[in-house]
Amino acid sequence: MLDYDLHCHSNVSDGTLTPTELVARAAGREVKVLGLTDHDDVAGLAEAAQAAAQHGIELINGVEISVTWRRFTVHIVGLHIDPSCPALVEGLRSIRRGRMRRAELMAESLARSGIGGVLEGALRYASNPEMIGRTHFARYLVEAGQCKDVRSVFGRYLVNGKPGYVPHEWGSLPDALSWIHAAGGIAVLAHPGRYTAGRKPMGKPTLRELLEEFVALGGKGIEVVSGSHTPPQFAEFARYAQEFGLLCSCGSDFHGPDESWRDIGRLPDFPLECVPVWTEWEKATA
Ligand code: AMP
Ligand code: MN
Ligand code: MN
Ligand code: MN
Repeated sequence: MLDYDLHCHSNVSDGTLTPTELVARAAGREVKVLGLTDHDDVAGLAEAAQAAAQHGIELINGVEISVTWRRFTVHIVGLHIDPSCPALVEGLRSIRRGRMRRAELMAESLARSGIGGVLEGALRYASNPEMIGRTHFARYLVEAGQCKDVRSVFGRYLVNGKPGYVPHEWGSLPDALSWIHAAGGIAVLAHPGRYTAGRKPMGKPTLRELLEEFVALGGKGIEVVSGSHTPPQFAEFARYAQEFGLLCSCGSDFHGPDESWRDIGRLPDFPLECVPVWTEWEKATA
């Protein structure tokens, strides 16, 4: 079992717990090193660091950046970033800027299919309105009785081809990596098993092209053990790590007690051949 969890969300993005509550839960579940990786925002890191000090666990400053690469939305995790780096702060702000307009368009689209008042409802779930996103819409649509849980709202309303889906242009891959590197961080390709365009999963040749570009831009890691990967995918992405010379990362992608693929921490071990991403920063302090 791994006592590192390097991917999770607080209510600064689309998690349900405050940074303090999240750290307490991680500490209670024997996490020793926690990476907080809110989408497109670093505003929870200071609070999380305080809580981590109180609980005697190590906090890794992180972020998960939304990127548009070809027809895919891809997520790049930055680990060990300096959250005060101006290039990073400004870059993340530029990504957040489009979210409210997108939310308005999503709400208009849902209204046309007969479901009104969704923007107001979704905003009640967003502690940080700048970070309004699909998860907040999903929570409200569950409350409004449209679906039984968040997962089914996505399938019925919030993915490509469905009434609440609005295509969106996020950041570029080179920009995301340049911000992470400016902030002294390590770039990790998040949950490679989850990428789709429309309903179609990203095929292997396309994933190879993505990884080639990612490595050429200085990307260093890939999530092998993710809360959204199956055990056969741990093995599959460990092979990609070897092929591309990437370090391996692990994270639950925890969003909240009732709606996550898996709870925070207690992640299964890496396949044997994996070199953990933390060797990168632990060698610096050894
Ligand atoms: P957004 O950045 O607003 O497009 O929202 C993306 C977030 O939606 C992801 O980070 C997940 O938390 C959540 N999400 C995406 N797809 C699903 C799904 N099929 N089921 C549940 N949550 C999902
Ligand atoms: Mn999320
Ligand atoms: Mn993600
Ligand atoms: Mn995530």
